[in-house]
Amino acid sequence: MKQFEMELPLSVLILMEQLESSGYEAYVVGGCVRDALLGRKPKDWDLCTSALPEEIIACFSKLQIRKDGMEHGTIRVIYEGVGYEITTFRTDGDYLDCRHPRQVQFIRSLSEDLLRRDFTINAMAYHPIKGLIDSFGGKADLQAKYLRCVGEPLQRFSEDALRILRGLRFAACYELEIDSDTSQAIQDCAPLLKDISQERIKEECNRLILAKGNVVAQLFRDYTSVWNVIFPEVIPMQTCTQNHPRHQYNVWEHSLHVLENAPANLQMRWAALFHDIGKPQTKTTDENGIDHFHGHGVVSTRIARKILKRLCMSKKRANPICTLILRHDTPLPTDIKQMNRLVLAFGVKGMQKVIQFHRADSAGQSPASLEADLPKLELAQQLLDQLVEERKCLHLKDLEIDGNDLIEIGFEEGPRIGEVLDMILHLVIDGKLTNQKNVLRSEAQRIFNELAPVPAPECPADPIPDSIDSDIHDTTPETSHPSS
Ligand code: ATP
Ligand code: MG
Repeated sequence: MKQFEMELPLSVLILMEQLESSGYEAYVVGGCVRDALLGRKPKDWDLCTSALPEEIIACFSKLQIRKDGMEHGTIRVIYEGVGYEITTFRTDGDYLDCRHPRQVQFIRSLSEDLLRRDFTINAMAYHPIKGLIDSFGGKADLQAKYLRCVGEPLQRFSEDALRILRGLRFAACYELEIDSDTSQAIQDCAPLLKDISQERIKEECNRLILAKGNVVAQLFRDYTSVWNVIFPEVIPMQTCTQNHPRHQYNVWEHSLHVLENAPANLQMRWAALFHDIGKPQTKTTDENGIDHFHGHGVVSTRIARKILKRLCMSKKRANPICTLILRHDTPLPTDIKQMNRLVLAFGVKGMQKVIQFHRADSAGQSPASLEADLPKLELAQQLLDQLVEERKCLHLKDLEIDGNDLIEIGFEEGPRIGEVLDMILHLVIDGKLTNQKNVLRSEAQRIFNELAPVPAPECPADPIPDSIDSDIHDTTPETSHPSS
């Protein structure tokens, strides 16, 4: 009797029917079965079949297909604009380089195919009539929230070390307890991760790091041996104590607490992990035995940039992370003018993240530090809300003069125009000029007459060094700010 009924999309049923009517077996398999059992909507539908790759191609000769994965038995069939991976039942031969099977063997039996899959929760197949095929107790493991290798864990991780990170990612995302043999094998095989491609490491880490904060932090704590192989730069953090009234943890433990408290987005979480990675290099101890870490933001940024580059992270994604790391130690604005200047540089969303990061950083220091910082955090939030609410945030476009005015005055077209407008904008924000055309034009005239060549804009009290060439948004900046 069928125990579990899975609702399959009509398109999937049609693809299965096409294979079966040609005499082959067909099942949905892997992640989609797992997700359906968890009551989640599957991201994509993978099929497995007894048909050989050429036989799959013959079955779907009228559809668009992709053969990139054919060597490993996978044909991608495009049906009504959606891609489905259909893979021939296979066993994997010997493994090369701790990741890729030297050759795969196509077989006609589902149960052998399920054996090659990594975890019991991923080794289930489903058929609308035959029901759930669950040879390794995947369903029970899912119900018990348990992650377990199919077969001998040491062997499975030695064959393909990426499974270590997949396992940690599943444990994080589905909040699974890791079986003790599987866990021990992860620790033992961690050194094999050094040969796994950085792209794949990044993909898995990007998914893992977005799971529930305390779960992610605990996995970083419990599997330090794994992170030490992927990110050896974190090793000195683990022994770097912080004798300072604000801190109750060493640098590593503090960073994990910040990660735990940071909202679940990639910029915040990566920044949390690496924001103090430069502390061991900058540590000094004063005559009272208090530790200081002058300039650690800059050093942390440098190290983080190197790691993110190694992970092949795009500049678009890495730059905002580095900006947040660089900024994390500079005080929050305490008046509306300071806030306006920062919003000009980072945008409203970027500034919101700076405040949230400060909060997570304080929470990661000690409960007393967070309590002491709450008024500052609340003030910053209030100032930001006020700017947004009153639409008082001045941008270049709000100035009563523009580049054409400067050209009329005699400035040559080019970057200098932006610099002068920026300088005038800051004078308006600081209340030193009123935003009236005649006032601003005469200031521009004064600059033109008196300053030749025009100096670079002064940006009072703005602590953001030029070396970071990005804004802090996840997407494109809201403001165009010539000097940011
Ligand atoms: P998700 O799609 O959420 O990342 P998934 O389990 O579906 O999870 P896929 O990469 O889509 O992951 O793989 C589909 C299936 O192929 C898995 O469920 C598993 O059965 C098998 N599989 C994938 N990668 C491996 C691997 N490295 N070792 C063994 N089996 C794997
Ligand atoms: Mg999948």
